[in-house]
Amino acid sequence: MEAYKHLYGPVPSRRLGWSLGIDLVPHKVCTYNCIYCQIGKTTNQTLIRDEYVSVDEVLKEIKNFLKTEKVPIDYLSLGGSGEPTLHSKIGTIIEGIKSMTSIPVAVLTNGALLYQEEVRRDLLKADVLLPSMDAVSPEVFEKMNRPYPNFSVERMIEGLVQMRKVFRGKIWLEILFLKGINDSPEELHRMREVIERIQPDLVHLNTAVRPPSESWAIPLNLREMEQIQTFFGEKAIIIAEFDRQPLPAAEREIREEILRILKRRPLSLIDLSKGMNLSQDKLENQLALLLQEGKIHLRSFEGSVFYEIGKEVQNS
Ligand code: SF4
Repeated sequence: MEAYKHLYGPVPSRRLGWSLGIDLVPHKVCTYNCIYCQIGKTTNQTLIRDEYVSVDEVLKEIKNFLKTEKVPIDYLSLGGSGEPTLHSKIGTIIEGIKSMTSIPVAVLTNGALLYQEEVRRDLLKADVLLPSMDAVSPEVFEKMNRPYPNFSVERMIEGLVQMRKVFRGKIWLEILFLKGINDSPEELHRMREVIERIQPDLVHLNTAVRPPSESWAIPLNLREMEQIQTFFGEKAIIIAEFDRQPLPAAEREIREEILRILKRRPLSLIDLSKGMNLSQDKLENQLALLLQEGKIHLRSFEGSVFYEIGKEVQNS
């Protein structure tokens, strides 16, 4: 598989099956700096939309990938190293993708910019929107998402409500819960009211399953998640673990593929093994070498061990 600058995967996604990730901003440009972010701290926090990466380059890579890599893909997913709606030409990119394939387009967004009409318009041709909404009270929003200064939670909620009115595709709202941060009964009651206003097709309930940006971001356990699911009703689902058949990966690319995948997020040996269709034994050899070379590190979180990319490689 060729090396791509703006594409990664396909990776197994708990919500999208085999998802080919498309990065529209460099690591890590975002409107928020969430305490649970699995791709690290925001280094360029902004509300300014720009052509952060070349539209032509992105579309050329996608075209080339679809032509040459014969792998199953369930979704082309705009997201990755930051907030994709910050890319001022995301609408052109979605249209470009639509003109070359019928594979559905998903947009993973924090929803912050949906209050802008032009952003809502840009996303209209996507098939699925996966916005996040982890808080509805100002103080919880500040604590959890650490938004751009003076960006209000009401603005984010209003954007979601307006988007629902014009968007014909599916909206799967994601709420990530952390212990003692956004799981109080008061916040849950308010969230339920806001969900009624937004009318998403589904509500995906999540918790920190990979090492978060801040070590004090503690996940909920399954019982607590189930209680929230019951409280939110039939649209709410706890995001299930991925259980598809593994995808073949060419052996000679193991190291590069490991590094490419870990650049996006830390993963456990099991996740890597599933995603790359390689036995854990085979992967362990390569991982040991990469550890020795300092290209990756180990990190413990909630009793599991994750591999994460070294700083030098991340910045290379
Ligand atoms: S979790 Fe998403 S919205 Fe939050 S800081 Fe990370 S990339 Fe930005």
